[in-house]
Amino acid sequence: MNTLIKNVSALLPDGEVKQGDIAIEGNLIKSVGSVAEDFKPDKVIDGSGKFAVPGFVNAHTHASMTLLRSHADDMALMEWLQDKIWPVEDKMTEDDLYWGAMLAAVEMIRSGTTAFADMYGPYVDGIARATIDSGLRGILARGIVAVAPGAYEKLEDSVRLYKTYHGAENGRITVMLSPHALYTCPPEFIKALADKAKALGAEVHIHMSETEGEVKDCLKNYGKRPFAHVESTGLFENGTLAAHCVHLDDEDIGIIKKYNIRVAHNPGSNLKLASGIAPVQRLLDEGICVGLGTDGASSNNNLDMLEEVRLAALIGKVQTMDPQAVPAFSAIQMGTEFGARAVGLKDVGRLEAGCKADLVLYSTEGPEWHPRYNLVSLLAYSANSGSVDTVLVDGKLLMEKKQLLTIDEEKVFFEVDRCAKHLMND
Ligand SMILES: [Zn+2]
Repeated sequence: MNTLIKNVSALLPDGEVKQGDIAIEGNLIKSVGSVAEDFKPDKVIDGSGKFAVPGFVNAHTHASMTLLRSHADDMALMEWLQDKIWPVEDKMTEDDLYWGAMLAAVEMIRSGTTAFADMYGPYVDGIARATIDSGLRGILARGIVAVAPGAYEKLEDSVRLYKTYHGAENGRITVMLSPHALYTCPPEFIKALADKAKALGAEVHIHMSETEGEVKDCLKNYGKRPFAHVESTGLFENGTLAAHCVHLDDEDIGIIKKYNIRVAHNPGSNLKLASGIAPVQRLLDEGICVGLGTDGASSNNNLDMLEEVRLAALIGKVQTMDPQAVPAFSAIQMGTEFGARAVGLKDVGRLEAGCKADLVLYSTEGPEWHPRYNLVSLLAYSANSGSVDTVLVDGKLLMEKKQLLTIDEEKVFFEVDRCAKHLMND
């Protein structure tokens, strides 16, 4: 399938906006700007009045936690997890996880997200099925809480998931291994997981240094700060996506650089759970790859990456008391190109020839898009995701003119309400 987007404003990797056409051949962008005369499109999209941007990469989420949205708010992280989240999660079936992930998919597509790095369980097959059905790009991982029973069976299941889904759907699905966090996984378990990851060639996804309490407890229990402690298990030797990284000192940042650890910054979740503000401009200055994530929909409470872009830019400024910190284009790069790199995707997150055709067209008709001095500024600081009009992933249309093409939205809402009833009442 070849697609031609005509007469569109396209955001280029260097931050410039170019007026022209975008040619998509199969799942790849063939050209941006001018198009070869012999290019034969099967589908032509009128891009006039539209802003073409790489699709957002949600670098850290728990998609099926949409099922817990508004169930419990305004609580501290550990109390919230132990009293409100884990007891309900224990009841979840594969069917629940499928419908939760489908609800997440509806929300992600509608808000311009084309890829998501997920950490959840136990039934990742349900989440994989939702990824296949929705057409989104998924970087899936079974998040393992090893202090609960059956940790090593869960690790074996993670190996099975990797062998089953890594590279599936023409590379649209990849798989990571995931110890949930150092406070839910003893070091000998993290070491065992690191060994399995190394044997498979798999990368890893973990929560790191989210709260001050986590750092204090780690020092008390292991005599080391979180990064030094996890370094000693060998986990970081596999290529690591570390979510949060809020509480960092120079030694932590040294370890992040040493292993090229990529950071998923989750400003909305960090604010809501009062975890703190990650030193994002410092990380960017150090050359560390920082992507953006929403975290789960029950600590955010939505999956809207445009909100994370704006929050990252705003709290990056107040954290440094410098209005020049985390400028608009840096925040958008964190949501797109850097996010793609953070989750281990090559050739994703940039509108240029040879990259995967994962892109979003924003309608610039609304009042928040006028006057149009600077489309990058408008996207980061003024627009909302209601102006997402058309979404393509891997060259395939998932939404056109706000109509979802792969998902029956009404059925998803119906099934999610059914799941919620059994989770809260059984
Ligand atoms: Zn998380």
